[in-house]
Amino acid sequence: MNEPQMQNTNGIKYISSNLLERTGVVHAFLSRVGGASSTPFDTLNFDGRDTDKKENIAENNLRLARAFGITAPVATVNQVHGNSVFLLDPSTVDAKAEADAIITSMKGAAVGVLTADCVPILVLDPVQKAVAAIHAGWKGTVRLIAKETVEAMRANFNSDAKDLVAAIGPHIGPCCYSVGTEVADEFRRSFGENPACLKPTGEGASADLGEANVSALLSAGLKKENISFEPVCTSCNNGLFFSYRKENGRTGRQLSFIALR
Ligand SMILES: [Zn+2]
Repeated sequence: MNEPQMQNTNGIKYISSNLLERTGVVHAFLSRVGGASSTPFDTLNFDGRDTDKKENIAENNLRLARAFGITAPVATVNQVHGNSVFLLDPSTVDAKAEADAIITSMKGAAVGVLTADCVPILVLDPVQKAVAAIHAGWKGTVRLIAKETVEAMRANFNSDAKDLVAAIGPHIGPCCYSVGTEVADEFRRSFGENPACLKPTGEGASADLGEANVSALLSAGLKKENISFEPVCTSCNNGLFFSYRKENGRTGRQLSFIALR
């Protein structure tokens, strides 16, 4: 995978999608750089479930709000590696749902997901004016969370999949993601014998979570030219990104978010 092309605003390093950039929607795949948290959450951690100090996370939210001109904290869900989609609207704005994707058509509301190796996916419907943030680990990937999210956007916003623009952010690459038989079988069940999703290696197989989600988005009806892909491995670039595998689970979570103006 390639050397990451990082943007920098007020010391916060992040990746933006060229496709989403062109639409003018505010969004970012944040790195771990530019925050206030200390080891092992250094430094731009947004996950309060572990032992990072509340005031550090609050400071990180403050820096985020300043850098991007959004209202922080960003709306997130309790991610559970499933395939449910949470609709954020005025009636659910105070709810904290168990889900792995969050969709909204509320202007000014930023929605996001937390990851450290899993795939963050940001989606925009430029026609119906709606956005989505998706968390896809291997379980969510094979349960087609990306496709479920497109279905939920169709059901709630009348979105046409052909209009949707999707961006796949930094995640653990096939270079660092060898999987056992059980996971490999699940990949085959969901994506068939697609060598882009599952590559045989010496001892077993390596899974390509990003390509598998591209495949899920295409099967949901998105156009290939409306999907951007950041070929950045969180494990290979552990100085820039939290990596759950590389750091044996003792790490923070980076935030990816999108918001309608
Ligand atoms: Zn790698």
